[in-house]
Amino acid sequence: MLSVTDLRDAAADTALDAVVPRAEVDVSSTVSAVLPIIEQVRTGGASAVLELGERFDGVRAPALRVPAEAIEQALQTLAPEVRAALEESIRRARKVHAAQVPSGTEVELADGAIVENRWVPVDRVGLYVPGGRAVYPSSVVMNVVPAQAAGVQGLAVASPPQREHGGLPHPTVLAACALLGVDEVYAAGGAQAVAMLALGVKDDDGTQVCAPVAMVTGPGNVYVAAAKRALLGRIGVDAEAGPSEIAVIADGTAQAAWVAADLISQSEHDPLAASVLITDSEELVRDVLAEVERQAPRLPLAEQIRTALTGPQSGVLLVRDMDHAVQVADAYAAEHLEVHTRNPEQVARRVTHAGAIFVGPHTPVPLGDYSAGSNHVLPTSGTARFSSGLNTVTFLRLQQLIRYDAQGLEELIDGVSALAHDEGLEGHGAAMRIRRS
Ligand code: NAD
Repeated sequence: MLSVTDLRDAAADTALDAVVPRAEVDVSSTVSAVLPIIEQVRTGGASAVLELGERFDGVRAPALRVPAEAIEQALQTLAPEVRAALEESIRRARKVHAAQVPSGTEVELADGAIVENRWVPVDRVGLYVPGGRAVYPSSVVMNVVPAQAAGVQGLAVASPPQREHGGLPHPTVLAACALLGVDEVYAAGGAQAVAMLALGVKDDDGTQVCAPVAMVTGPGNVYVAAAKRALLGRIGVDAEAGPSEIAVIADGTAQAAWVAADLISQSEHDPLAASVLITDSEELVRDVLAEVERQAPRLPLAEQIRTALTGPQSGVLLVRDMDHAVQVADAYAAEHLEVHTRNPEQVARRVTHAGAIFVGPHTPVPLGDYSAGSNHVLPTSGTARFSSGLNTVTFLRLQQLIRYDAQGLEELIDGVSALAHDEGLEGHGAAMRIRRS
């Protein structure tokens, strides 16, 4: 299923980012498809969001805002083992995200010259929880926990209406909201949900149904990512977390069956999901390919898995050695990177471009998808080169308070005047000198 590319004889100056596998469908080419959807929501408000849900999700939600009773009922009917597992995921995620809260600092630069750095939460955020091909109650946890740890006051969750559930979001998504204390939930998916959150929507008689947010976060398919990109500037967004990716660095010591299982697991998410094996062992390649053929057809989503694994975004890269593997992994910048090598800790620490790194054979990506305590909303398509996964700081703004007194100011009047004069901004110098006693 997976194609094999041999990079062992590649010239030293080969541009590795051009040879690593990538999806042919990208977010920039989808932006033009979502612009009319955003416009429809801008002009048509709540009824446009409901109509678009009917078109793309095959069901019209009974109401855009999910009634409180439906959220409560979803919690009451949640299977006890799912509730216990969700509570454990929440407990672990809360610990990790609380540890990310930065403390403010106050720097005294001279007598009467203080600059304070303080972290302030975003007022109101929209949290997207996917629900097209699969449903993601775990994404409720991954969005809500860092926002709450940051101290965000207004939280609105949006998730696609489900045909099998009368047009409500999936009951486990609603139950996860209840467990986290979130009561503002909308039955909306895709680009129309992002537009609803960013622009706010009213119903036909002018009543506000969803107030606009300052920021939208959360994973989703290419339409969600494209809408976030199109609305960036009007709202803040987190890193682009599109179709899932896994890269595995493995050597001859790796368990082929485990590596194959992990590559298959991420391909369940989306036909555009990417699974990439980077190894220096021909024997492992042979064994992993055989294991993929053995394991994949047994799964309920076998067809989708095959599409994802045979797509241009997936493949095996044969490298010279572990140094070469680290270079290739850095060029690929995977959303999730697993390391199955003789010294996984050493190899993992050398890779700098990856959304999250899963160290050693007992830390598979599905653990992080649900319950490791880490966040599963991670940068895809190589954006891990410059962005982080969702975290508490995503929801915080650094604000500086600058406090100088007469003495502190006096020391800088001549210097600032000289700089202002040099820039031709005499009014700046004058505003300094007018304060000279
Ligand atoms: P989704 O909720 O992201 O998308 C469903 C929505 O897509 C629908 O509501 C619909 O409005 C819209 N849509 C579908 N076809 C459309 C079309 N032709 N035109 C316009 N809009 C259309 O759910 P999904 O599709 O299951 O995708 C979830 C994605 O999230 C997967 O790719 C998965 O890999 C990814 N994911 C990523 C991370 C991460 O951190 N990177 C985490 C979890 C999930």
